Amino acid sequence: MRFIVLGSGSGGNAAVVEAGGMRLLVDAGLSAKQLTDRMKASGIEPASINAVLLTHEHGDHVRGLRVLMKQMAAPVYATPSTSMVVRGSGVDTASWKIFESGGSFHFNGLSVHSFAVPHDAVEPVGFVFRHEEKSFGLLSDTGHVTKLISERLRGVGALFVEANYDDALLEADTKRPWSTKQRISSRHGHLSNAQTAALVAELATTGLRRVVLGHLSRDCNCPLTAAKAVRGSLAEVEIVCAEQDKPCGWWE
Ligand SMILES: [Zn+2]
Ligand SMILES: [Zn+2]
Repeated sequence: MRFIVLGSGSGGNAAVVEAGGMRLLVDAGLSAKQLTDRMKASGIEPASINAVLLTHEHGDHVRGLRVLMKQMAAPVYATPSTSMVVRGSGVDTASWKIFESGGSFHFNGLSVHSFAVPHDAVEPVGFVFRHEEKSFGLLSDTGHVTKLISERLRGVGALFVEANYDDALLEADTKRPWSTKQRISSRHGHLSNAQTAALVAELATTGLRRVVLGHLSRDCNCPLTAAKAVRGSLAEVEIVCAEQDKPCGWWE
């Protein structure tokens, strides 16, 4: 199993997970041109994508979908409410595959397990991908870590997780009005470095060895701060940060 983050941040999110001869695009929040350019630069022919999976309907996760689906025949997997909202925004050319939040689906030997996350979207989810003995968790926009989330991610070997903001940098930020800061740090907003660090420390005790941090705020976080906070005293966990403007390597 391997995966690549094509881009991550409030300017757009997308990643590709590959295992068992299947290729899944998770979210399509960059422009269709950026998505196809970055896929090609990473050795992925867009036509080879077997399915597109959506975490939720926010623009930074679906922006490129409408145009991309004119060029690709892959089905789009989403929860009932997410698919309804995205369809309503004009993405109607794709073939839709609806799964219940908490449900699983399979592509040959690659299985995908969804789980509900608290975020201010209609029906947001995270995913765990399993192939043979390998497993990879993907937890994007999430306000806080619920018991369900840590249970579902228990035992994953690798994890993509958002580390949106540093508490002090968010507090000190002068560009955002108080209401926006409240939304970001609320229980249905985004994860702080400290919240992500606590989750990673917990999962490190159940086999987590590789972490890619994503969705870093440009103003209220920085890769060094986020990586340092999440690494804490975990010598055994490898931690890198995904970038907004370019894909970040392939991770086996
Ligand atoms: Zn969101
Ligand atoms: Zn987002």
